[in-house]
Amino acid sequence: MDFSYSEQTEQLRAQLNNFMDDHIIPRIGQWRDEVAAGQYPVSFMEDLKALAREEGLWNMFLPGLRADEPGTRLSNLEYAPLAEIMGRVPWSSEVFNCNAPDTGNMEVLHMFATPRQREQWLVPLLNGEIRSAFAMTEPDVASSDATNIQTSIRRDGDHYLINGRKWFITNAHHPNCRVFILMGKTDPDADTYRQQSMVLVPMDTPGVELVRNLTTLNHHSPEGHSEVLFRDVRVPVSNLIGQEGDGFMIAQARLGPGRIHHCMRSIGMAEVCLDLMVARSQDRKTFGKYLYQHGSIGEWIARSRIEIEQARLLVLKTAAMIDEVGARGARKEISMIKVIAPTLLATVADRAMQVFGAMGVTPDTPLADFYTGGRVLRYADGPDEVHLQTIARLELKDSAGRRMDIARYMTPKQ
Ligand SMILES: Cc1cc2nc3c(=O)[nH]c(=O)nc-3n(C[C@H](O)[C@H](O)[C@H](O)COP(=O)(O)OP(=O)(O)OC[C@H]3O[C@@H](n4cnc5c(N)ncnc54)[C@H](O)[C@@H]3O)c2cc1C
Repeated sequence: MDFSYSEQTEQLRAQLNNFMDDHIIPRIGQWRDEVAAGQYPVSFMEDLKALAREEGLWNMFLPGLRADEPGTRLSNLEYAPLAEIMGRVPWSSEVFNCNAPDTGNMEVLHMFATPRQREQWLVPLLNGEIRSAFAMTEPDVASSDATNIQTSIRRDGDHYLINGRKWFITNAHHPNCRVFILMGKTDPDADTYRQQSMVLVPMDTPGVELVRNLTTLNHHSPEGHSEVLFRDVRVPVSNLIGQEGDGFMIAQARLGPGRIHHCMRSIGMAEVCLDLMVARSQDRKTFGKYLYQHGSIGEWIARSRIEIEQARLLVLKTAAMIDEVGARGARKEISMIKVIAPTLLATVADRAMQVFGAMGVTPDTPLADFYTGGRVLRYADGPDEVHLQTIARLELKDSAGRRMDIARYMTPKQ
């Protein structure tokens, strides 16, 4: 496999790095202050989005972008290093219309929407005019097993009637969020994997109630990880995505590329943590030595570099495999990187916090936010343990037919 960057990627990397230097990094403080003051989306967001779109730094995550759709068409492998750059300042991905969960939702609509659904929801999403949320997880059932989902989607004439409670619904508190892709059950008596369906639920439908925005490790995300109540919510049957019973299949299709986008951004965040760790260790002295001259801190720097490089190579391999054999063929690699990248981020952020001393756990550095991001990503898009189970299952399947003859590797008894 060749992971060298294409000419187009190199050019976009340079362009994106310049954009980050000129427009994003100088606004980190302003973004934080405006969010703290309840001003969200922040005042400069729409201006920066217009600028990014003008520069062609738009919708780069979607390989299947049609000629008439706005954005720069790239493969997953080409997109990976760009997502990594955006990850350095996590809110920046909205500027480029490359933020979760809108990316995953646009992928779903791209694959499955009817022409009317495309017009109503996909076009404004691709234009960055609205935001969206994906509503699957429920407080009352173990949602890492999506077959447990209980929200009911009951047919009633030309409408579906929806009842259920969801939580951790990212983006639902974004003031521009206009629509949910909601997963629920249309037929609890069907085969286990045909009970679920997905429907589009406009935010302003009567019966939709934003209950609260959950903090994670006391971290406040202005776009929300929200609890949402759906009480006798009525939507036309034309809001169904695909066919009744397709929900599980669509959920699987949605999570392929989206999962590795998080990993790509995590690597960018881990790089910032390492950069900060190195710089701080060169600035401060204890016991007559710079911090990096103490063996333990030198080792953290070295281990962080090794682990970031390992993760990046696996992300690139996974992206290349998605391009070549599709998300289904890359299932094992997607799960592997989904386990590695969040823990890598939390680990490197943790080391960097320690090098910064007490300052490392304050909001004066981005480290605590990065740490939180890594830790919570161990649940989002499926907890580690479910991915480990998938990897083990596929490993055993792949090894069928080449089972090792254990005796050949044993030392014979004398
Ligand atoms: C920051 C954040 C953002 C999120 N955004 C969204 C979103 O936008 N939309 C959405 O629908 N959901 C979202 N989620 C929810 C996330 O997808 C779920 O939390 C996740 O799927 C786990 O479901 P659960 O919390 O119900 O845990 P449960 O299913 O109750 O699982 C609890 C624990 O059991 C263990 N476990 C589960 N299965 C196995 C197994 N096979 N083997 C061993 N151990 C196992 C794991 O340790 C797991 O953490 C988000 C979560 C977070 C933290």
